[in-house]
Amino acid sequence: MVAKACAPFNANYSIKSFLTLITHYSTLTTQSIRKLNLKLDLSDIIKAKKKIVILTGAGISTESGIPDFRSPGGLWSIYRTVTIQEFLANEEDRKYYWQYKRESYKNIVKANPNDGHNALVTLEKKGKLQCLITQNIDGLHQIAGNSSNLILELHGTDRQVICLKCSKLYNRDEIQAHLERSDDVPVCDDCGGWLKPATVSFGQNLQPQIIEQAMYESEHCDAFLVIGSSLTVHPAALLPEHAKRSGAWLGILNGDPTPLDSFSDWVCHDPAGQVLQKAINITI
Ligand SMILES: [Zn+2]
Repeated sequence: MVAKACAPFNANYSIKSFLTLITHYSTLTTQSIRKLNLKLDLSDIIKAKKKIVILTGAGISTESGIPDFRSPGGLWSIYRTVTIQEFLANEEDRKYYWQYKRESYKNIVKANPNDGHNALVTLEKKGKLQCLITQNIDGLHQIAGNSSNLILELHGTDRQVICLKCSKLYNRDEIQAHLERSDDVPVCDDCGGWLKPATVSFGQNLQPQIIEQAMYESEHCDAFLVIGSSLTVHPAALLPEHAKRSGAWLGILNGDPTPLDSFSDWVCHDPAGQVLQKAINITI
């Protein structure tokens, strides 16, 4: 479920320029980061800005009951990670990977959008949502009602399964039913290729066009709001900094401090759903 276009795509925005930015930003020092400006309220900003880009991470979905798999006790601390190379090379790794996916999907399929997701639907209805970039693979933004063509899923989606040989897409619920019946690795009906969730695995490259478009959106917004991301995973962590350096207001709404807090115009560590409902539903 990949967005086609949030805005006119700039084909000149190459991976090379993106890598240049990584190098540039990695040289930043805390001394160069200006002081916080917390005077403005989020509702004031949402009222004033017209082209808002949102970046969401696991933190927005924890309020829907989907655990952050990176957190202590999360599934990533129980299951070892399987790289795409291991998946391709070993049947046992493919089986192990699917066992993990079978269990993690149970949390996803029973989750419903929360106040935070719903507030972003309101933001879109009011015509202020330029693009919704997400690190999440749970599909809850679409279920809440945001338009698919405004959503960029950086890490793919767990709601679909793809054949690694012919790229045929399958509904995830059908594959989940297979997994509940058998430990056999699911294969493609058409070509016999191995099936894998349409997510970006460890060792697998993100889709270049998705990264490039996310960078483009970050560069052409007037406000960039991070919601529920620790901003420790690249390339997502680079996007807010790119937006800010391109002239946008930058806000961070996350339960824990992030590396960009001191660089941002607004920071809040309160629960996302409650803050967004108040800021978005009341002010617009
Ligand atoms: Zn196939």
